[in-house]
Amino acid sequence: MKTLTEIGFVKSSFDEPANPTEMKKHISFINIKKEFEEGLFKIEDSIYIDVVFGFNKSEGFDLKLNIFTGERKGVFASRSPRRPNSLAITTVKLIERNGCELKVTGLDALNNSPVFDIKPCDNSLIEKNSEAINASKLKSNPRKQIISHILAGETDKLLIKAAQMHGHYCPGLAMGVMAATFAMQKIKFRSDGMEDLIVITETNNCVSDGIQFVTGCSFGNNALIFKDFGKTAFTISKRDGKGIRISTLPDSQEYIRQAKGKFSSQFEKVIKKQNHSDQEIALLKKLGIESAFAILKLDFDKIFKVEEIEVEIPSYAPSYESIFCETCGESIMASRIINKNEKKLCIPCANESYFQLDGHGISEIRK
Ligand SMILES: [Zn+2]
Ligand SMILES: [Zn+2]
Repeated sequence: MKTLTEIGFVKSSFDEPANPTEMKKHISFINIKKEFEEGLFKIEDSIYIDVVFGFNKSEGFDLKLNIFTGERKGVFASRSPRRPNSLAITTVKLIERNGCELKVTGLDALNNSPVFDIKPCDNSLIEKNSEAINASKLKSNPRKQIISHILAGETDKLLIKAAQMHGHYCPGLAMGVMAATFAMQKIKFRSDGMEDLIVITETNNCVSDGIQFVTGCSFGNNALIFKDFGKTAFTISKRDGKGIRISTLPDSQEYIRQAKGKFSSQFEKVIKKQNHSDQEIALLKKLGIESAFAILKLDFDKIFKVEEIEVEIPSYAPSYESIFCETCGESIMASRIINKNEKKLCIPCANESYFQLDGHGISEIRK
């Protein structure tokens, strides 16, 4: 095959490898050599162009590697720079052309990367199948977008997604998102809901939904442990027991007061005093949105304390067989069977005491 001819080079503010999501947010320039300028004729007709460039800082390749989400993939199933030909293709948005210079966004090339080709992006297939493409990405890793947001520190995008689960915006949810994003960046470990990453939360209020969403550790996947201390604090840990505990600083209440604005007094009015008029609820929702996004703009170090700690990790959740209650016929985890009057019964049919987790914390419901 013919050797590649360098047609130009990239001018970017990144001299060293960085997070591609972050790089793509910046403006870059592609400088085409004078002898190739005529080849840019009518390039302004395209909004999106494909740029073929070289990874000038990458040496060698791996056929299998860990991609940014932590998944293991083949090099040709990834966008890793460590590939046999060190060639990259990225679709960018063309902002304007000035003679030999193209101003673009969306380019994840380092400063001085050699450019080998440029062509209009052909998205005819993608346009028709964008929903299917998105679905297939999320099937291969449901947390792909969440991980991208964590790595790029996009707490505003995470807050919007977390609110889809939480149901409303509030300062607590925002604090949970903020603290959990920090913790996930710090621990550099991906959560796949298989109990390899464990979260211990010390509260069951709004904050814990932000933590569950961002860390991916939830009650349902047994990666969330609840210690009923009533403290706005949580610990995140890998299986090796090396964890980080994040709690709120004593004077953080005063610091976040301004960002919270009138949210707390409105919350009092609607929730505690049960004033459920449409107008008051609408105002509470509006204040919730404003205060949640205002919290995200605050200084992390003025709200939270971070400690590195050793954590006692419970063993993986056992998988119990299901047994059927001899009175109601419903299936029960074997560990919750009550033997009473020579019958295997569920707790309600046996009328026995049990533990319940609700807004009051964990309490025993005595029979
Ligand atoms: Zn809330
Ligand atoms: Zn029963």
